Formats: sequence, structure tokens, C-alpha cells
Amino acid sequence: AADYAQVLAGEPPVVHTNVRHTMVRNGDAEDTWWTYTDTPVFGDDGAIAGVLTLCEETTARVLTERRHAASLIAVEEAERHVARVLDQVADRYLTMDPEFRILTVNAAAERAIGLSASRISGRTHWEAFPTSVGSAVERQYRRAMQERVPVQFAHHYVGHGYDLHVEIDVYPTDDGGLAVFWRDVTERVRAAAALAESERRFRTVQDASPMGFGIHRAVRDDDGRVVDFAIPYINAAGARLVSRSREVVQAGTMLAMWPGTAEAGVLADLTGTLMTGAPSSRELLYERDGVDAGLAITAVRIGEGADAELGDVTARLRAERERDRLFMDLGAERERLRSVILNMPAPLALLEGPEHRYTLVNDAYRRVSGGGRDITGPTPRQAYPELAGQGILEKFDEVFATGEPWAGAETLALYDRNGTGVIDTWFNLRYEPLRAADGRVTGILNFAVDVTEQVRARREVEGLLAESEAARAGAEVARGEAQAANQAKSQFLATMSHELRTPLNAIGGYTELIELGIHGPVTDAQRAALERIQQSQRHLLGLIAGVLDYSRVEAGAVTYRMVDVPVTEAVAEAEALLAPQLRAKGLGYTWSGAAPGLTVRADREKLQQILLNLLSNAVKFTALRDGMHGRIEVSCTVEANDAGEAAGGRVCLQIRDTGEGIAGADLERIFEPFVQVDQRLTRAYSGVGLGLAISRDLARGMEGDLTAESTLGLGSTFTLTLPASVP
Ligand code: ADP
Repeated sequence: AADYAQVLAGEPPVVHTNVRHTMVRNGDAEDTWWTYTDTPVFGDDGAIAGVLTLCEETTARVLTERRHAASLIAVEEAERHVARVLDQVADRYLTMDPEFRILTVNAAAERAIGLSASRISGRTHWEAFPTSVGSAVERQYRRAMQERVPVQFAHHYVGHGYDLHVEIDVYPTDDGGLAVFWRDVTERVRAAAALAESERRFRTVQDASPMGFGIHRAVRDDDGRVVDFAIPYINAAGARLVSRSREVVQAGTMLAMWPGTAEAGVLADLTGTLMTGAPSSRELLYERDGVDAGLAITAVRIGEGADAELGDVTARLRAERERDRLFMDLGAERERLRSVILNMPAPLALLEGPEHRYTLVNDAYRRVSGGGRDITGPTPRQAYPELAGQGILEKFDEVFATGEPWAGAETLALYDRNGTGVIDTWFNLRYEPLRAADGRVTGILNFAVDVTEQVRARREVEGLLAESEAARAGAEVARGEAQAANQAKSQFLATMSHELRTPLNAIGGYTELIELGIHGPVTDAQRAALERIQQSQRHLLGLIAGVLDYSRVEAGAVTYRMVDVPVTEAVAEAEALLAPQLRAKGLGYTWSGAAPGLTVRADREKLQQILLNLLSNAVKFTALRDGMHGRIEVSCTVEANDAGEAAGGRVCLQIRDTGEGIAGADLERIFEPFVQVDQRLTRAYSGVGLGLAISRDLARGMEGDLTAESTLGLGSTFTLTLPASVP
């Protein structure tokens, strides 16, 4: 009513918008909204005659507006939520408008950039980050902006005070701008590089190692039992040790390659080490290139070897896992390197930096380098001051500077090994440069094997060898000299014998003339004296003949006319010549005979000479003993040849007597010239001691030999051996 009064009073029209009425329509009570407008109605006189109320239902509009408002709240809510989420993720995030002006920056990005969002919002990316201008970043952003496609790329930011590896994802947004996500993958990249480096180091150590080394990975059956070992890595020395190429070994398994390792217990050893972590070792023999070789195997566990399965996870999660895995691998890798180096029986140390500081020293190295004293110095120069100037420490600098490895086999060092003063020590040294990923030399791997004992032992052997060589050479010279002297002597004897014979013959001749009475009558006493002179002259002639003979044989001036001589004939001839003397001494003689037709290959006269000499010695040295007459027995045996045939074999003639015999010590001496067992001047026997020497030389000159056996007081047996004739 107030409204109407107002309108009737000429006031402006009154509007009531969206007035709610709850009314029952279609059988249900529902909220409805109405808008009322009261306007004046004018009469013909122009005065306000009444009021017109326009009534419009606005329910639909009100409801729409309300829904809209609610959805606006929801959108805001959602945006706030997204922002919260984005802030929570590790990824840095920013958005840009089509002009590359920065719109939003998340907290992570603020932290990463070190600038607050308010400082950079509204500025273009190029203003905020000038270093990105002209870089791959600008190119990629512009491409995403123009082509409206998502772009992913990796970038390395380097500059003063920062060194970052990032992975960047760029997405076009609906408003024509870009959303940029980036992740700092610096750690991951560094870890991967470090892993590669570690791996390289490991390879350097192993490839340079003089010891065989292999990584063995368990092969399991369905029940998880270890049944074999794959060999994903073997070093060069290891491959050499088993005479196979590295490729072949690395493609095979232990049992496939060396089936015997199961029986030898190696499979069990390795399995045990894998299970318990306790190192195992074993020595075994194995055939290498057809020869039995000794092998000492030490097994050390390195890591667990189980690779984690990567499930179906988002890319980022995968990346993180990858990073963790890399870190774990790197840790395992370091551990692997350490445990391998520490457990290696070869003395090994890692030195880092231009000062060569020890960063890793294994027990074997400690034993070699500090056996008796403490090595406390952090660098070789401090640890071994006495080595200064010997070229060994200086090599560290050289290898570090040039990056060229150095090996010194049996390098002599004046070294105080036991803390008791410097002594000569020999080392097998090896310096291998260690390089960073960029190729820079960062350290040196040092092998130092003390080979002093080996060198000493070898030198001793070499010394002994040299001594014996000198002795041998000396003996050679002496023999040469003796031979020359002997030859001179033989020559002298030959000349002298000849010169002596001429006057002796004259003595004989003139004595005979006197005896014949040419120079007047000869008394009986004179005749007896002349007889003595003639006897002595003949004896002397005989001696001279012997000496001449011997000297000719010795000088090699004798020629042999080799024919087939029937054995029986030769023995019979000799016996016939000796028969008077045998009879004179009353000695028994037997010849046990030889196979009819048996012949030897010999010079007939020389054979005769030998037999006569042996028989006459037998007669000479066999006498009446205890009233019993002595006996001489000649016998013949045949030694078959290799094929068991008499022909081509050897014929042995034995001349045995029952005489005084020869002492064992004299048995060989009697074959030397001028040796007579009985040296007394009053000895009963004639001779000069040349017979046996000549006989043996002659026998040997005919491919035969002459030997003697005897028992003092019982008799002697001389055996002449000659080759049987070949028909
Ligand atoms: P010779 O008979 O001229 O002394 P030999 O060379 O023939 O020289 O013999 C050397 C020495 O060997 C003899 O002096 C003698 O001492 C010893 N001898 C040789 N044959 C016999 C033998 N059948 N029995 C004992 N001694 C012997």
C-alpha cells in the first residue's frame, strides 16, 4: 500500500526484484521468485489515475545465477587446490601468457630461482631469465608457443655459481600461453656420471691387474638354487689364465666352460661365499694347453646382485626411482671397487690428486710397503723419504702429468723395508692413471709387488750357472792344453824312438862282429858279456818299438784294414806263438771254442797284437802257486744285436788267468800308458806298461773295447769286445 501511495503521489516507480514466495504448484511446495514493478497509470487529463503492477516470475533466472555463483566458488576452490598440489610437488612450475609474460610461479620454482613470485610476475621470461635468451630454452619455448604442441627437453644450466641439469616439460595452455614444468636432475646426472666413472675406474683397476679377476653372477633354477655362474666380466689377465678370449668367457657360464669346477668344489665355494658373505679360497690343478697348471681362486661377495623390479609407475616416480637406483648402484659400485681392491691378493693402492694422496690401500700393499714399520705418511713422498731421487717417486709425477701408464719390472730400490736401514729391494711396479669422465687425470692406481726374493734366488742361480760355466770353460781349456801336450809328447816319442833305434842297431851290429871273432879271438868271459849286451840291446829295441807303436796310435797315425777274421783262427794263431812260454812255465791252456764260421770285423794284425799282449800278460803274471800249476782259459761269447741276431751283434773274447790278480783301485789305471802295478825297481817283470794302453786304443779303433775284471790273488779276466761281421 505504501508503494501505491508513493506511485500515486508521482514518485518514481517502485521495483521489487526477486521476491521469494513459497507456493504450492503442481501439488508441491516450492520456492519461486518474482519481480514486481509498480508504475503509474495516467488519465485523459494527464493526472495519475491508478497504479499498474507488472508481475514477472524470475525463478529460473535466480536459480541459474545461484548455480553459477556456486560453481565460481568451486572453481576458485579447485584452483587453490591445484596451486597447493603444484607447490607440493618437487617440480618447479610457471605459466606464461602468449607474450611470454610470467603469470604464476609455484613455491618450488620460487625457491629454485631464488626470486619471489611478485618480483617476476608480469615480466617476460626473457627479462626475468636473461641467460635463456638465445639458448635451446628460448627455441623450445617459441616452438611450443607457435605450434601449440607439448615439448620436452633436457638442459644444462652452467654459469657463475651454478651448474644445473634440468628436464623441462612445456605444455600449451587454453588461454594461448604456456605452462612450464621443470625438474632438477643434477644429482641424477652426476650420479650417472659418477657411476660411469666408478665403472671406468673399476675396469682400469681390473684390466691393469696382473691377477686374473672375474665377476660371477649366480644362475638359479626354479627353486632358487644356485646351479651355475654367469661371468659378465673377466679381466685380461683372467682370460689369459684360462687361455680363452674375454668375449668367449663373458658369453659363457662357469660349468659350460669348465665342467670340472663342480667336482673341484669351486661351484660350492662360490655359492657359499654368495650366501654367507665369507670369502673362500681354493687351490686346484687344471689342464691348460695340455699341461697341468696350478690355480688359486679367491672369491669375495660384492653386493646382493638382485635387481629391483620397476612396476607401472608414473614417469616422475620412475625417474626418481631411477635416481635412487643410480645412487644405490653407485654406492654398490663404490663398495664393489673397494671390496675388490681391499681383498685382492696383489698389493694395490689408489692415490689421488697431483700430490698423490693415498685414498685406498689394501692389506697386501701395506704388507709390502710397511712390513716392519709404520707407514703414516699420506703421500708416498712422506711415507718413503728414502726413495727420493731414485726415480720411483718421480714416476708418479710423470704418470700424473702425461696420463701415460708406467710399468717397471724388477725395479731396484734402496728401500728401508724393515726399519733397519736401506737394503737392495726389487719391485714389479705399475702406475695406471685414473681419469675423470672428461678425461682429466685425477689419480694413480699403484701396484707394487715385492720380488726381492725371486730376484735374489734367480741371481744366485745365475751366479751358480756362471760359475759352473766358467768351470766348464776352464776344464775345456785344460783339456785342450792336455791334448796339445799329449800330442807334442807323442811326436817327441816317435822322433826319439826313431833316433834311439839307429845307435841301438849299431850297438847290435858291432857286438855281433866282435862275437864272430872278426876283430880277434874272444874269450868265454867276453862271450858271456857280449851275450848280456845283445840281450839288453834286444830288450831296449823291444821297448822302443812299443813306445813308437803307442805314440803312433795316440797320434791317430794308425790305419786299420778291416776284414772279416774267423775268431777260432785268430785265437789259434796267438796260442801257437805263445806255446813255448806256456810250456816253459807249465801253465794249462784251454780254448772253449766258438761257433764254426763266427767272424769278427777287425784288422787282422792289430787283433793279433792285442791277443798276444793279453796272453803274454796272463803268462807273465801267473806263476806256480801252492805247488799248483796256473791255468789260462780263453772263451768266446756272442751278444745278440738289438734284433736278437748274432750277426751285427758283438763278439766277446775272454782271457782268464789264475794269476796274482789286480787290486780294484788299479783296474782302470792299468790301461793308462806307463802304468805298472808293481813299481819296484827290482820287479820281476819286464815291460814298460804300454801293452794294455795300446791294446785298448787298438780295440776302440776297431769299434770294440777292452775291459778287465780281477780279484787280487785269484786271477784276472780281460774281455776284448769286437763287432761281429755282418754277412
Ligand atoms: P807291461 O805288461 O808292459 O807292464 P801292460 O800295459 O801290458 O804293461 O800292463 C800294465 C800292468 O798291468 C802290468 O805291469 C801289470 O801290473 C798289470 N797287468 C796286466 N795284465 C795282468 C794280468 N793278467 N794279471 C795281473 N796284472 C796284470
